[in-house]
Amino acid sequence: MDKSELVMNLAMKRGFFFPTAEIYNAKAGFWTYGHLGTLMKRKFENLWRAYFLSLNNNYFEIEGNSILPEKVFRGSGHLKNFNDPMTECKKCHFRFRADQLIEDELNQNSSGLSEKEIDDVIKSNKLKCPKCKGELSQVRLFNMMFDVKIGATNTEDIAYLSPETAQNAFLSFKREYFALREKLPMGLAVIGKAYRNEISPRQGFFRLREFTQAELQIFFDPGKINEFDDWDEIKEHKIRLITAKHKKLEEIKSIDLNKKQKLPKFYVYHMAKIQEFYLDILNVPRERFRFRELSENERAFYNKIHFDIEVYFDTLNGFKEIAGLHYRTDHDLKGHQETSKEKMEIVNENKRLMPHVLELSFGVDRNIWMLLDVFFVQEKERTLLRFNKRIAPIEIAVFPLVNKDRLPEKANEVYRLLRKNFTVSYDASGSIGRMYRRVDEIGVPAMITIDYETLEDNTVTIRNRDDMKQIRVNINELNDILERFFNGEKLQKLGNIIK
Ligand code: ATP
Repeated sequence: MDKSELVMNLAMKRGFFFPTAEIYNAKAGFWTYGHLGTLMKRKFENLWRAYFLSLNNNYFEIEGNSILPEKVFRGSGHLKNFNDPMTECKKCHFRFRADQLIEDELNQNSSGLSEKEIDDVIKSNKLKCPKCKGELSQVRLFNMMFDVKIGATNTEDIAYLSPETAQNAFLSFKREYFALREKLPMGLAVIGKAYRNEISPRQGFFRLREFTQAELQIFFDPGKINEFDDWDEIKEHKIRLITAKHKKLEEIKSIDLNKKQKLPKFYVYHMAKIQEFYLDILNVPRERFRFRELSENERAFYNKIHFDIEVYFDTLNGFKEIAGLHYRTDHDLKGHQETSKEKMEIVNENKRLMPHVLELSFGVDRNIWMLLDVFFVQEKERTLLRFNKRIAPIEIAVFPLVNKDRLPEKANEVYRLLRKNFTVSYDASGSIGRMYRRVDEIGVPAMITIDYETLEDNTVTIRNRDDMKQIRVNINELNDILERFFNGEKLQKLGNIIK
């Protein structure tokens, strides 16, 4: 079995996620989070929230809607531009995303090409349907939004499921600008569902039709793009990136990105913070992380600067996009102003201006798959998810050594004592060795065992997932010691290792 199958099997078997409506063989691209996946997703979202909203005292979260009226997408440009190139097999009628087909069959990147150019590549290379070798149709554009109707059937009431959460921030901009007392920069974050009718979702959990995004739109004065209050904090940070010009991995100090590469401070500050989030908060190994700049052909015309955030996926054999940092200028507010006729310009510090937007856009589900991919480890005797303690869905597992002699009762007492502060599981259903393997496999950082000694002196063992070392501590101190362990102290500093 390759790693991709191993990770997927583990995810489905243990309750991270599984295809939605499996019993009906439902359409690809829809997944349900099981109990562990849901715990982990909430943790990711909370970490994201805590980290990015704390970057500035004027960054806040709002909650909008998934269903938005057609006019919104006229204003945003999605009705016209949110298309993927599609080709259909004339024999088996399977539909393919034409640029992906070219990538798969010819190993050639065709992003940025027009539908006519993509069609030419297919024709000149005599590409056929990979499923049945049938002839492929002319490439045409396919709009990826799901449409819905609001109320009784009335053509006036067409709406769409939003393909990104960002529109909620643009639509709320003016209300929030005044509610937050007319300050810039102002950040509005949304964590919510996004819907894209992907032509042929594949790669398992990577490309979904219904997914969650965590996005932060930062509205700022374009005249101050080369300023950021906390610039000094990150100016020496080395950023790992590939620029469109140099096309090779480099590590460049923030200050040099600003001075020599002319990337504005406002942009570079957020690059440094995104990198810190991945390396220091989630502990993604440095060599697996990079920013990649999109060339002018690849990026949307309104994105003046666009780097994708990429991580190396073993399961997908390469660096893949998990997030993006987009300098969208005034494209969105201007579009909504033109379509709605509502003025989006504001007065800030006595200056009339149309704010520009920096967008931090993260796919939550892709990040979950990334974490499973990166931290899945197979050792000789066990499989484990070596997650950072902060992201592990279950933090502590409690076991009685045997399922008799008052040990389960005592173990239950310990379970109740800990569950006020931690996410704890309780299991008494097998041999201790098997129970350890089961919790290693889902990445539980600490395991507590209640044995006969516990009944005599009120002590238990704590086992560290990563090195399997154990210490013995009194139950009265357990909460405190675990708190310190979860805050990063080494287990051996908190008690004597049992030989
Ligand atoms: P892709 O090139 O993979 O289609 P994109 O460049 O269109 O993605 P954006 O529109 O920039 O993606 O969306 C921001 C983030 O949302 C992406 O970095 C990704 O993490 C996530 N995302 C986008 N489309 C999907 C999808 N179909 N399934 C899961 N996550 C997605």
